[in-house]
Amino acid sequence: ASSAAHQKVCVVGGGPAGFYTAQHLLKACQDVQVDIYERLPVPFGLVRFGVAPDHPEVKNVISTFTQTAHHARCCYYGNVNVGTDVSVEELREAYHAVVLSYGAEGNRSMGVPGEDLEGVYPAKDFVGWYNGLPSNRELNPGLDCETAVILGQGNVALDVARILLSPIDELKKTDITQRSLDALAQSQVRRVLIVGRRGPLQIAGTIKELREMVNLPDTKPEMVASEFEGMAEALKVIPRPRKRLTELMLKTAVDPPAEKERQRRQAASRSWGLRFLRSPLEVLAGPDGARVAGIRLAVNRLEGTGDGSVAVPTGEVETMDCGLVITSIGYKSLPIDPAVPFDPRKAIVPNSLGRVQQAAGLYCSGWLKTGPVGVIATTMNNSFDTAHSVVEDLTSGCLDATSAKPGSTGIGPLLDKRGVKPVSFSDWEKINQEGRRGAAQGKPREKLLDVEEMLKTART
Ligand code: FAD
Repeated sequence: ASSAAHQKVCVVGGGPAGFYTAQHLLKACQDVQVDIYERLPVPFGLVRFGVAPDHPEVKNVISTFTQTAHHARCCYYGNVNVGTDVSVEELREAYHAVVLSYGAEGNRSMGVPGEDLEGVYPAKDFVGWYNGLPSNRELNPGLDCETAVILGQGNVALDVARILLSPIDELKKTDITQRSLDALAQSQVRRVLIVGRRGPLQIAGTIKELREMVNLPDTKPEMVASEFEGMAEALKVIPRPRKRLTELMLKTAVDPPAEKERQRRQAASRSWGLRFLRSPLEVLAGPDGARVAGIRLAVNRLEGTGDGSVAVPTGEVETMDCGLVITSIGYKSLPIDPAVPFDPRKAIVPNSLGRVQQAAGLYCSGWLKTGPVGVIATTMNNSFDTAHSVVEDLTSGCLDATSAKPGSTGIGPLLDKRGVKPVSFSDWEKINQEGRRGAAQGKPREKLLDVEEMLKTART
């Protein structure tokens, strides 16, 4: 239920940005009620549907978000799709301030022929599939091939590579969905190539994820030593943490392994490798014309140095055989309401310090504010910054915070009239309990995959 607080703020999206924005607002302002509207019945956004199942420690932030949701002046409304069930204008009428924190739910596409062939999947969908995102539960990716190519070299690409090659017994201990576990147990994928358009010094992944690849049981690295030419020299001038990351790549790709490591590599049944300076030109179909059988790549050279260097095609072209292509070239925010300013080029809501330009009382935080970059800690900081701007505006009087606004009591009847039944935080806790009950031995939970099933569980 809503508190007696006079200032009403709502947050759109119940991911890290939404929860961190709410947390800071509640702490900084004693007279504010914060309502969180989330599209899915279940909260936490990419912490639940993005973060890899074998990274449970990253999900510890959920306990902080749960505390926020239980705060006396916070209320969670799941199963409310803003832009469809209620408009941003209606929220702005009902609240002194509206913070958009709905993340980046679209994909960047490669824009090359063959992208729609069977066996080509955006990493976002593949990740959603193994993490139980309802809209991806039917993905059933074909894993009956030997080689998979992942395009992109960020942490999401490394997560996908690791999940494809992890021993099933390790995955069994995680909250990965049972159907993807079953599919991965049958997987024929033995080799994963992670392809980037620039060089080793521009790789976007971080050392933790790379080290996990290097140490992945039953796998060996399959690198091309010549791709690292000149790297030892470059090490002298590059700053940490890139220096450590490059040292690890060099050690893996170039240094002769010590005896124990040599034996480990020799016994391995699977391999993974990084490939550099390659851009996709076309995904190639097999004889049936429907399924992917390879990928044609342009060979690039780099112009300039460091992060700002640009990949330029040399004119040389190369083909890689593969039966699975996963494109990991970035998530992308989408507009949800035509009344909200949106920059289609950067795919963000244009803002300064979280204040949406030319829209008093409207704010944004998280990936919608910055673009889909950075870890949860980055999202936390930029969400605190946005919350700080809201508090500043509430206290400086520019939001007419003294006039009464109805908050959720204005929105509830609208939703009711439209047949939308919000899921409360305690409803979500029932869904979560059900997930824990349904889990096989050793698994922390088995996520419910169907929105109807979630709603039914919430209401029993
Ligand atoms: P999101 O987490 O996407 O949350 C947005 C929320 O808004 C979602 O719950 C969504 O359902 C909701 N929403 C969308 N549309 C609407 C609408 N119309 N109405 C209402 N609600 C809506 N970071 C780490 O620190 N460690 C990791 O190991 C890590 N792994 C990652 C793995 C992957 C595959 C990805 C993609 C990211 C990973 N990150 C990791 C980064 C981290 O997930 C992000 O920094 C963070 O989730 C961004 O938060 P957000 O709230 O902006 O977006």
